[in-house]
Amino acid sequence: MIGVLALQGDVREHISLLESLGANAFGVKTLEDLEAASGLVIPGGESTTISKLAVNFGLIDAIRNFVATKPVLGTCAGLILLSKGAIGALSDQQLFGGLDVTVERNAYGGQTHSFEAEVEFATGSERVAFIRAPKVVDIGSAEVVATLEGEPVAVRSGRVMGASFHPEITGATTLHKLFLESI
Ligand code: GLN
Repeated sequence: MIGVLALQGDVREHISLLESLGANAFGVKTLEDLEAASGLVIPGGESTTISKLAVNFGLIDAIRNFVATKPVLGTCAGLILLSKGAIGALSDQQLFGGLDVTVERNAYGGQTHSFEAEVEFATGSERVAFIRAPKVVDIGSAEVVATLEGEPVAVRSGRVMGASFHPEITGATTLHKLFLESI
């Protein structure tokens, strides 16, 4: 049972992608939902909004505990929320942590600079979408999972994985396959 944090963002698309790979997936909005999940996907959207909603819904501590103990995948805003530090974050913005990386919000450009590109995984390349995407500016002790023009665009620290891009928009499956393998 894979939870997809359903406070904001591409929730349905991630659920479909996980189901197409044979997993059971459902939206997570409450503490009870989170307890039922054996892994969690944090979708892209707006990291400031997702963190505010996580505080308002009383989920912030439970998500931090989840990230410390179970497999989590964050994409785009999800990567920002899983980082240990985010350049351009609001001064009161809460992060979940879990990935030993620092990111810079919107470093791949604003909405009008959105683009699709082939990113390189160890298993081959895949087309994905970058939308107001964050860049990994300090990779710390994290492992590189995918690159774009030699720069890390998907990273992993143990059970926690994050990507700058949206795989669900182009239907790219590698990231979700790697995530499901870690569960
Ligand atoms: N720029 C957004 C943020 O800071 C992330 C964009 C996205 O998830 N597509 O949260």
